[in-house]
Amino acid sequence: MTLTPPLAEVLRRAVQPQRLIDTAVKLIQVPSPTGQAGAVADRLAELLHADGFAVERPTGGHATAPAVVARFATGRPGRTLQFDGHLDTVHLPFVPPRVVEGRITGSGSSDMKAGIAAAIEALRALRDTNTLPGGAILLTCHDLHEAPWGDGRQLDQLIRDGIVGDAVLVPEYLNHCIPIIGRGSLTWKATIRRPGPPIHEVMRPDEPNVIAAGAELVRRLFQLHERLAARRDPLAGSDSLFIGQIHSGEIFNQYPQECWLEGTRRWLPGTAPAAVEQELRDLFADLARDTGTSVAADLMVVRDAFQLDPHDPLVPAFQEAHALVSGRPLPLGAKMFCDDGNSFWSLARIATITHGPTAGGAHTVHEWVSIDDLVRVAQVYALTAVAYCA
Ligand SMILES: [Zn+2]
Repeated sequence: MTLTPPLAEVLRRAVQPQRLIDTAVKLIQVPSPTGQAGAVADRLAELLHADGFAVERPTGGHATAPAVVARFATGRPGRTLQFDGHLDTVHLPFVPPRVVEGRITGSGSSDMKAGIAAAIEALRALRDTNTLPGGAILLTCHDLHEAPWGDGRQLDQLIRDGIVGDAVLVPEYLNHCIPIIGRGSLTWKATIRRPGPPIHEVMRPDEPNVIAAGAELVRRLFQLHERLAARRDPLAGSDSLFIGQIHSGEIFNQYPQECWLEGTRRWLPGTAPAAVEQELRDLFADLARDTGTSVAADLMVVRDAFQLDPHDPLVPAFQEAHALVSGRPLPLGAKMFCDDGNSFWSLARIATITHGPTAGGAHTVHEWVSIDDLVRVAQVYALTAVAYCA
């Protein structure tokens, strides 16, 4: 459906900034470190219920914090547009919400409770104006997003259980482009050990030397990176192997027992996460054999890679909405981080656009989000729904 300017105006006016702010503040007030988002999920469910929405609480395999699912259906044929957000926050000291100088601050304000509040405000605007011509809106909110405390498994289960729309909008703090590609990522840690206790260096056995084995591992990993970097996408960059830290030893003349290294591995769409894991495990096993050490590998897949077909009906619907609200469509680009859009694509090939408010301080104790931009996001979401669902 083509959005007419008068219809767009009706929807834009239906977005109520104060109602949006109140919702964001109520969500930020409840601490919800990853894995422990039960209380905020309960609050969100109460809030939606009080507002007249039917709410379901599927556990998604995480009974401590069942997900919050709300449906708004027109009863007329059409597509279902899903708004999806995570209610958990990174494990940092809790900062309560404040509304000051055009911003909301506090834990989860930028990442991503205020974005969820904007999606809810879009839902209310669609209901209040009765402008959704057909189809439905599905709102899903969940826990277990932030790594390393979560690995997305609650959302993965909801997707496997079929609690999905035909396309998804994710209000994470990205809005300079429509991301059509993103790399998958995993974190790795390799712990190299030798037999025997720590000992003065003058009394050390000949071999093996864990620092030498660590140096050899660094050399092999750089070699791997060079090979990987040949695979390149003009928007998203290349496959990569990154080393973030290396540690060994206690004092200058003690022969150490252990050396450990840690980093990331990123890959473009088209490579299976299992193959990425196997390649690293093989490399660590070869090193252990060649150096006479043991190597314990600790691998955690954060998310698989992401792709969006720019010809999917979600993209023109979103662009039309964005142009009506902001005066221009968005360029296509890359998503530098992994988010839940990666899961929708890799598990179910569902088109997802990450688009949220201008915000800052994510993963710090200084989070903030722009209130004007939250209002804009709510308007874009409501207009996209009208253009997409019918
Ligand atoms: Zn987030």
